[in-house]
Amino acid sequence: MGLETTFGDSFLTTKISEAVNWARKYALYPMPFGTACCAIEYMATVGSHYDASRFGAEIVRFSPRQADLLIVAGTVSHKLAPILKNIYDQMLEPKWVIAMGACASSGGFYDNYATVQGIDSIIPVDVYIPGCPPRPEAVIGALIKVMQKIDGESVLRFGDDDEDGEPQKI
Ligand code: SF4
Repeated sequence: MGLETTFGDSFLTTKISEAVNWARKYALYPMPFGTACCAIEYMATVGSHYDASRFGAEIVRFSPRQADLLIVAGTVSHKLAPILKNIYDQMLEPKWVIAMGACASSGGFYDNYATVQGIDSIIPVDVYIPGCPPRPEAVIGALIKVMQKIDGESVLRFGDDDEDGEPQKI
């Protein structure tokens, strides 16, 4: 009697998801989209003192095609919004997004005609970090939240090709 007969399809899918997610969460490749002061704090986060390599997330990529974690750190103007969307679209699935700081999360105190009032109006956001700027410990906390989120995801997660807000599955 084979495994599939004994446990059904879900057994194998679950075990494969666990193995793939374990590899994914410990090998994140962040790409900082730094536009303002929060980016300076992100630079501190990836310095040796805070040791992001403990979480496998220390190798920063500056090409969206080589990154799976977009960290938006700073104010995003409406003029910049299409560029941010373009960069997000160039990242391969699976991918995750952190909105770092008050400006990226909600516009912060730039409540004016020029500023996007939260990047989630442009791209999906997985984790928001409050603060102006957030301390590196908060960024590491967000990294851990992304890792926890990856743990619960299906390995069959794919992009939102039909743009209905839900990832495609096969
Ligand atoms: S949240 Fe504060 S520190 Fe971060 S970009 Fe905005 S103004 Fe600068």
